[in-house]
Amino acid sequence: MPRSIGYIEIARLLLIYGHAYLGRMQSTKRVLVIFLDGATDDPIPLLNGKTPLQASNKPFIDSIASNGTMGCTMSRDYTHFYLLELFTGVKAEIPRGVIEAYGMELPLDDRRVAYRMSPAKIENGKAEWYYKISCQDEMNLQKAVLKSRDKIREMDPKVYFYNGGKAVMTVKGTEVLNLPKPPAPADVQPHDLGDFGPFAESIADMMGGITLLPWGGGSGKEAESFRKSVRPIPPMTMISKSPSALGVAAFLNIKRERVAGFKQGIKLAKDLIKKEDVFLHIEETDDISHKRSPREKVEIIEAIDKELNRHVKDFSQCRLVLLVDHGASSLSGDHIRMEVPYAISDKLTPFGTSRSYAENGWERSELPQLLEQIYRF
Ligand SMILES: [Zn+2]
Repeated sequence: MPRSIGYIEIARLLLIYGHAYLGRMQSTKRVLVIFLDGATDDPIPLLNGKTPLQASNKPFIDSIASNGTMGCTMSRDYTHFYLLELFTGVKAEIPRGVIEAYGMELPLDDRRVAYRMSPAKIENGKAEWYYKISCQDEMNLQKAVLKSRDKIREMDPKVYFYNGGKAVMTVKGTEVLNLPKPPAPADVQPHDLGDFGPFAESIADMMGGITLLPWGGGSGKEAESFRKSVRPIPPMTMISKSPSALGVAAFLNIKRERVAGFKQGIKLAKDLIKKEDVFLHIEETDDISHKRSPREKVEIIEAIDKELNRHVKDFSQCRLVLLVDHGASSLSGDHIRMEVPYAISDKLTPFGTSRSYAENGWERSELPQLLEQIYRF
């Protein structure tokens, strides 16, 4: 006579699977994740129709792809969405401004709102994001922002600047402005800017039309309730120069180390991996894509590979993982929604590169399950 399993049986099964799950989240080897931000791309005529990943000579990276498992997952539009879903297993659309405010430790509570700020030039209602900003302009922009701060004094602005004239800002208020995100050019009318209008205008007056536009806004309230509900994440240290990646780490209570760039990051990873798991986020592959320089993207991929290879002795002791979060087109300068490859390997063999780590369409895994797959491998 078939009957449903009793409560004791359910409890027993939960125990078995619960332990199995936790067991899988621990590896006997140290895990080093190498995260190549925006590394996948379009086929580039200048590279004989190859993508930068396909066109570059990268024996270390290809050795990871050749000696273990390789697959793909669907990209997310922005790095922090990919990271949040990878770590928590849950789709979480926490706005970029909120994530970075956590990363920069700017004040953010129920009565404050956070934004990302990016330099842009507005002409006839069209905002062109301004990526190729010179050092001089960057300095002038920061001065112009400080001088214009009076225009939003009532909002008690707290601003943190980082490279390229970009910034993160939190202000008093509960209403969140919903303005278009970079990198695609956007329609922005003066009234869309709300209380920021006079502030943006004042900066543009001093800067010959260049100003700082807020986007990715959100309040701390929603973020907090999500943060309280997430699963345990295996202990590791995130190494990055990116406020967005470091922001996700801060938001999820993952240990983090800020570095100036990939060379310093790789060196630090080599030291830390002796005693803990490391998540090495490399931003340069995305940065260069926005500058639409496919040849330079190839050079950067090769330089990263060379730098990793210098520490091959240390790294070959651990489980090596390659991840890419989204495509970034060296033709258009925009992020591309596409399948992105991952690779996991417990060994490296010199010159054993039967596979190229590149855009491909290997067997698909779903992002919420990928972290478990990395640790179970
Ligand atoms: Zn990008």
